Amino acid sequence: MAKLTDITWEDFSRLDLEAKKPYLERTEGDGMPYHTLFAQQFDRGILERLCTLANRIRFINKSKEGALYLKNVLAHKRAMLYFSQPSSRTFLSHLAACQILGLTTGSVRDAATSSEFKGESHEDSIRTFSSYFDMIIMRSPEQGLAEKMAWELSNSERPIPILNAGSGKDQHPTQALLDIYTLIRSFENKGGIDGRTVVFCGDLKRGRTVRSLSYLLTNFSDVKQVFVAPPELQVPDDVTAVLKAKGVRYEISNDLRAGVRIADAVYMTRIQDEWDTAKGESAKIDTTGFKFGAEELALLGKDGIIMHPLPRRDEIATCCDHDPRAMYWRQMRNGMWIRAALIASVFGFEQPIMNCGY
Ligand code: ASP
Repeated sequence: MAKLTDITWEDFSRLDLEAKKPYLERTEGDGMPYHTLFAQQFDRGILERLCTLANRIRFINKSKEGALYLKNVLAHKRAMLYFSQPSSRTFLSHLAACQILGLTTGSVRDAATSSEFKGESHEDSIRTFSSYFDMIIMRSPEQGLAEKMAWELSNSERPIPILNAGSGKDQHPTQALLDIYTLIRSFENKGGIDGRTVVFCGDLKRGRTVRSLSYLLTNFSDVKQVFVAPPELQVPDDVTAVLKAKGVRYEISNDLRAGVRIADAVYMTRIQDEWDTAKGESAKIDTTGFKFGAEELALLGKDGIIMHPLPRRDEIATCCDHDPRAMYWRQMRNGMWIRAALIASVFGFEQPIMNCGY
């Protein structure tokens, strides 16, 4: 089996993401991750298994007896939520997912309150957390940090799994999981995701959720991806290179209304100005044509859906919020269930939960 203990960090970091995947599996060849670091770890089979498990967990949790069963599943485990970048939903939904499964949690939400402020390295901080916890759920502004920490931990005396809850401008694999889960649920009994058109709009250059979801969609057949953005914020070449290599249909556009007319799902994103390299850089970009309001809503098909990873600013008008096609609130709740499914699977509890009597 490919193991992180058999490869140096230098050699591992040079591999492409597909080649890294086997080093991160829980069990050889099964595909379910041990460390969850990027979207390329999930193929269609794994996505379907996780969505089925998420449905099962949400069903079991409906009764008190079922909820108590779930609370016992990982009652012997502890998770550390280590978030050195702002978060509301990702933090809370991972916390709630842990609570559903009975894990005890600890958290650092601001590096200024940890010893990193005194100059401790990330490696030493993570090593410290691993002394007290059985999993680290981490968000960091640094691209690739979760990968480095996963390698470090696997090569320590106390290997525990890392779950990437957002890394720089790079990846947000569990957001992409909840986005796929939302798409699967939205198009259930309506023919599924295959053959659909997904329109991404907003800051596609710096939005990590776009990169991760764009990749996951390549697991489905004949899904067309349309990228609508001002030229300065268009989708980066590394994303389109993957689509080209996989023969996925895509289009680059600056016309949101044209996109909405053909969309099965419109995925809006906010301007990620925290990444500006000069003060006021994003404010100079004309984003007026990249907002979803009443007129766009009128153009969306009756089965079309509106998604957003949130937080939103003004890119979706609040007048859309009560439309049944607005999925962004449901996305949040779906996130809790799919994260519970992932955490249960990482610890080997997929089958016990699927087969339990509830
Ligand atoms: N919450 C998402 C993220 O952490 C999207 C965003 O912040 O715009 O990437």
